[in-house]
Amino acid sequence: MKKKILPFFLLIFFNSLLAGNADGVKVVFRYDDFLLKPSPLNDSLLNTFARNNIPLCIGIVPFDTSGNFLNGLDSAQISALRSRISRGEVEVALHGFNHRNHLKPGRFTKSTYSEWAEMQYDDQVKKLSYGKNILDSVLGTNIKVFVPPFNTYDDNTLKALETLGFEIVSGSRQGSSNGQTIQFIPSTYEDFSSLSEIIEKNRDNDVSVIVYFHPYTFKGGSDKYSTREEGNMSLEDLDSLLAKLNSANTSFFSFSGLDETGDFNSGSFRNNTMKYNLLKKTLLYTKLYNYGTLRSSGSTGTDNALTAANILLHILIFLITFSLTGLFLKIFHPEITTVLVLLILWLVPVSAYLVYIRNDFSFGMVVIMLLVIFSSLISAILWKYTGLFPIRRNKQHVSVVVS
Ligand SMILES: [Zn+2]
Repeated sequence: MKKKILPFFLLIFFNSLLAGNADGVKVVFRYDDFLLKPSPLNDSLLNTFARNNIPLCIGIVPFDTSGNFLNGLDSAQISALRSRISRGEVEVALHGFNHRNHLKPGRFTKSTYSEWAEMQYDDQVKKLSYGKNILDSVLGTNIKVFVPPFNTYDDNTLKALETLGFEIVSGSRQGSSNGQTIQFIPSTYEDFSSLSEIIEKNRDNDVSVIVYFHPYTFKGGSDKYSTREEGNMSLEDLDSLLAKLNSANTSFFSFSGLDETGDFNSGSFRNNTMKYNLLKKTLLYTKLYNYGTLRSSGSTGTDNALTAANILLHILIFLITFSLTGLFLKIFHPEITTVLVLLILWLVPVSAYLVYIRNDFSFGMVVIMLLVIFSSLISAILWKYTGLFPIRRNKQHVSVVVS
């Protein structure tokens, strides 16, 4: 019973740390993988958002796999889209060049996909400007938002975006953040299933929710860039969800509009990421902290509390590992050679796992935790076999006296 109650207390605790601003939740909707091709789904989707007075950011992929401009719309369809843009119903983001992955999948390595990472700076400028210029001229826009395919990019991407006058990048919560002028407004939640609950839970918090989704999210939607099954959400479901959100304490923004409400600089991005903090990552993963949301304000007391708690977590893991290993050695009295063999056997899967995640953003924090566990194991072994620690000698002394 206690175990079941604990997460709720933690939830209340962390949400109370976040509370403070009663402006309500700010929401941005980002629709990726939009192609300039006739699509009944896209038409109905844009109508649904417009009917509910909610702006929608569409991430357009400008080129096909051969590098040709991808435009299957006739002039009436283009001018309808231009009207939506000028009415503020639709904001256009550049969603890559042709959405191709250029990272070779490494053997035994967790796959990381990217169209931009590791590409030369000059090539990135060239490809980004081709895409921006052609969409700007066809749609009458001046695109400021970049949504990288697979949500991945590198430092050169940020430099190239700054050169070309982009103002906002929207990837995921992780990623490079060295840009000086670029604002970072990452996606925080995919699909719609828990959106009502996320908004309800955060109604008194100063947070933004950036929802991203794809054609495959919907019935009848397919996506040439994904092997995922079609989703089961209908546009009727979406319509009633948007209507419901409209009546809650929620405001809806385009990326440019949200940008005007606060400073989404690289520091704020780093504070919102869980890239450097195992505890934050765990809390977010278990939906206890910041789930689905981006804190609009910069560094807070919560960050300091979580950093301190993260350090405590590592100390605790050290002590637990030390105690359990000590207990194991005390009960079984294995030979030192057996202990060393066991240690090496432990290192084999651990090393394999590190190789597997070497390109993942969590690599650094996993290494730190494993170093903590490893040093704890070594300490326990030294304590048992070398008498390096005085506690053991005292105990031996006492036992001699008793016997
Ligand atoms: Zn995409």
